[in-house]
Amino acid sequence: MRWPGVTCREEGWADVTCALRVPAYAAPVLLVGLTGGIGSGKSTVAGLLAERGAVIVDADAVARSVVEPGTPALEKLVERFGKEILTAEGSLDRQALADRAFVDDESRTALEDITHPAINEEFFRQITEAPEDAVVVCDVPLLAESTQARSRGYKVVVVVEAPLEVRLDRLEQRGVPRDDAQRRIAAQAGDEERRELATHLVDNSGDLAALEPQVDRIWADLLRIKAEDEAAAK
Ligand code: ATP
Repeated sequence: MRWPGVTCREEGWADVTCALRVPAYAAPVLLVGLTGGIGSGKSTVAGLLAERGAVIVDADAVARSVVEPGTPALEKLVERFGKEILTAEGSLDRQALADRAFVDDESRTALEDITHPAINEEFFRQITEAPEDAVVVCDVPLLAESTQARSRGYKVVVVVEAPLEVRLDRLEQRGVPRDDAQRRIAAQAGDEERRELATHLVDNSGDLAALEPQVDRIWADLLRIKAEDEAAAK
């Protein structure tokens, strides 16, 4: 059985994508991918799904957690790429690592060989911690950008969309300068590419009152799909 990919989207890490395979885990959770462009409202939708009972796995948080100070993966990265990849406080300087790891195939492969297994392990640890009957929603910002992630196919993919100007306004309110946001948006997949993956689309162009009923409908559908899966498995 193959499982969804997970990506880390910090600067220079956009294509660090993990092959997630062969877990010993076989509980009948429904695995849902949640994606959308920066500022589209993924986290907001994830929060609303969590309120309704979903277990959320945040791919970015997973990718960050495995290289925190004191982790075996960070130690291996330092062994391979040198102490220069650490900040004065001893945490990972992602830009410094990217400058060293994304220079040639060998370095890039070394980075992936260190980080992918750690990410896989943590990803599955979080999934296996979910109750057996859970709906697990994996917030994977770069699902559309990642060939591996795409090929792994979540049963359900929820894509959150909002018009560019709305996204820029919201990000600006969150403290992200417009030109910075525009640069990041330009580096991501477009709406069309994400839409091709979608089993469910969320239109987040409106306010929260407009978003909630859409999430209600999706949640009801996830429960229906899950019930069908369980019935089929009997
Ligand atoms: P990122 O890719 O940067 O992590 P995201 O896709 O997860 O962003 P959110 O963080 O959910 O997006 O939303 C971006 C900002 O817009 C947040 O400040 C959030 O509170 C706000 N926001 C999201 N949806 C709505 C909405 N329907 N009405 C008002 N504000 C919203």
